[in-house]
Formats: sequence, structure tokens, C-alpha cells
Amino acid sequence: MKTLDTILRNDSAHWVGDGFPVRSLFSYHGDTAAISPFLLFDYAGPWNFEPVEGRPRGVGQHPHKGFETVTIVYDGEVSHRDSTGGGGTIGAGEVQWMTAGSGVLHEEFHSPGYSKTGGPFRMVQLWVNLPAKDKLVPARYQAITRDTIPEVAFDGGRARIIAGTFGEVEGPAQTFTPINLWDVQLDAGATATLPLPDGHTTMIAVLSGHVTIDGEGVGEAEIARLSRSGDAARIAANGDSIVLVMTGEPIDEPVVGHGPFVMNTEGEIREAIAAFNAGKFGTLAPAG
Ligand code: MN
Repeated sequence: MKTLDTILRNDSAHWVGDGFPVRSLFSYHGDTAAISPFLLFDYAGPWNFEPVEGRPRGVGQHPHKGFETVTIVYDGEVSHRDSTGGGGTIGAGEVQWMTAGSGVLHEEFHSPGYSKTGGPFRMVQLWVNLPAKDKLVPARYQAITRDTIPEVAFDGGRARIIAGTFGEVEGPAQTFTPINLWDVQLDAGATATLPLPDGHTTMIAVLSGHVTIDGEGVGEAEIARLSRSGDAARIAANGDSIVLVMTGEPIDEPVVGHGPFVMNTEGEIREAIAAFNAGKFGTLAPAG
């Protein structure tokens, strides 16, 4: 059984643009080896936005390079456009898996429809590192809609498999290194045993409710980081709970991050900044 290593939390929030009230529960500014292949976890919300007329709230065009951003929307809607010519809207229960790779420019706003109605908003953005050999792949994104995410029932709850496998069930996301990403609901009072890979970095984010893992309580907006060794985790739900399960094979390479660029060396970061300043990240698709 995997054991609890530590509980990650962050009581201070910041705004990303004017649309995303974010708590960074872990980031590459900390112990990058312990969280590898993951880089950053921003928990946006829960928040209740008032309706707005005119320009939706959000964050205007900005670059990313050297990793992937995985946006998981629970409440609300996020619309995006990027320099690959892509764009779309991520609805509740949907996921956008964007490979920034060699470099992308994009914008992220509340969808026009959600903007007009307002209401509850809750989203996770997880940054996943790319191995050095794949850092310069062309940018692209996978729009993972509700109907493509299979659900597995287990004793004590159910899991939507976004990436990786749960038993025989395989999630739709294509990843560069072995990763599991599961949106899990646990029933109040249940104790569930989740099968998780031995050797993977393993983190369980509690998004609502309260659970007990290895004898320790883990509450809303906290992440339990578990041992790599062990092939399962036992989780007791103290009430109905929603947790996001993340596991990944560690990438044993140096991590040098600077804002939206995450590379392997300082020199590569300087190159990324120079390329961005020289306008080499392309241009956004026309607004549609
Ligand atoms: Mn972004």
C-alpha cells in the first residue's frame, strides 16, 4: 500500500488575469524531483461570478513552451484560441490537453455564454512536463469531451478516466510519458482501494469533501502526495468527496522554469525568452 509522504496546501490565492482566482497547490519553484513529471497545479475557484456584459473575464494572449497544460473544468466554461489555429470551449466535465511543445501563444477566457449568466466556477490547470527529447514537438491540443471519458465503478465510488488505465479501462488522452489522471467521486463513509502504479509519483487532490489517507485527514484544496512505492492507495471518504488522482512516471532530468517556459537548462530558457520577444511564437487564430 502507498503511504502518505506529505500534504501540500496554499492558503494564498492570486488572480490569473481577471477570470481565474487561483491557489497554486504545487509548482516547479519547489522540489521538482518529488513532483515529476508534474510541474504545477493551479486550483481556480470555487468562485461565484456575477454576470458580465461585454468582454468575458480571463487572460489574454500569453506563451507556453516545453510542457503541457491540462485544463479540467468542473463548473463554468472556458474558451480558448491559440497560434496553431485552434480554438474551442471547454465545458463542465471536459478537459483540454494542450501540448505547448516548441511554443504556443494562447488566450483563455470564460465562454461568452457562461460570462452572460455567471454562476459557479471551478477549474484545475495541471502542468505536465515533457521529456527533453519531446520538448520541441509541434504545439497541438486534444479536446477531450464528456462522451469520450469512460467511467469505472469501484467499491465506494466511481472514476472518470481522463488519462491512463484503471483495470481494463483506458482514458482518451495521449501522453508522452506514462500518466494516470482520474476524476474520482467517493461516497460518504466509503473506504476505497485504488489500484495505482508502483514507482509512479502519486498525488491525490481533494476538490470537495474530506478524506482520510494513511491516518491523516486531507481537506478541500489540499493534495496528498503519496509514496512512489506500493501498488494501491486506500482512501476513506468522510463525506461525499471529489478527488483528482494524478500519477506519473518520474522524468529524471533537470527542470529549469521561468514563468510560462519550462526547459532543461538556463540557456534554453534564455533562447525561449528571446524567441518570444522576437515574435516567433506565431499569432492567434482570428476571433470567431
Ligand atoms: Mn495559458
